[in-house]
Amino acid sequence: MGADRTNILKPALIVTDLKTLSAAEAAQAVPVDPARPLLIVDVDEVLAHFMQGFETFVGRHGYEMRIDRFALFQNVYKAGSDESVDMATGKVLFDDFFRDGADDLAPVDGAAAALDRLSAEMTVLILTNAPDHGRSARMGWLRTHGLHYPMIINSGLKGPIVRDLAARTTGKVGFIDDLLPNLESVASDAPDVVRFQMIADERLRPYAPTDPARHVWADDWVGMEPAIRQRMLG
Ligand SMILES: [Mg+2]
Repeated sequence: MGADRTNILKPALIVTDLKTLSAAEAAQAVPVDPARPLLIVDVDEVLAHFMQGFETFVGRHGYEMRIDRFALFQNVYKAGSDESVDMATGKVLFDDFFRDGADDLAPVDGAAAALDRLSAEMTVLILTNAPDHGRSARMGWLRTHGLHYPMIINSGLKGPIVRDLAARTTGKVGFIDDLLPNLESVASDAPDVVRFQMIADERLRPYAPTDPARHVWADDWVGMEPAIRQRMLG
């Protein structure tokens, strides 16, 4: 445990090491205290205002966001057009955003302070689905906003990697994400993990699929921190 604790104080080095690993390998390599609770935290719409940042980015390229459903590309329109962009255009914008826009995301209010307090009592890990070319921007963004935790980049549903991470501690495990499919994936692959859902964008929130009876809902970190404490430390 002493060795693990030393590593936790040097997350930047660990993240560099994780860089060359697949998500599954990183799940084994990342420092996890086997005796403490473990909190696994998503980035977009949980720590970072992704929709808002993506809106600003596409705006610079002649597109605008009209949020009227829980979707990403279907809310993006060529300025003045009645039809949302097709998947291919959306994907190009998304990939470009992670080359040239992902530094601009506004942090979600209270997230860094809440995680700082929680990290005194549990291991905190960041688990984000981002393209691999966005890794350094994402890491830089986390550091800039005081989120000095090891980061794993995943692709696809998060259940399998959360199951692998959860197996590394005997403590309680929590998982926060905005997307119901990820929460359901974790419920199915790692049923003992406590799931929490948050969607930081107030415009998107009314359209979001949720299931608060299965995944604890909080609008913001003022509500999320006590919910985590109650279910993971209570
Ligand atoms: Mg997200």
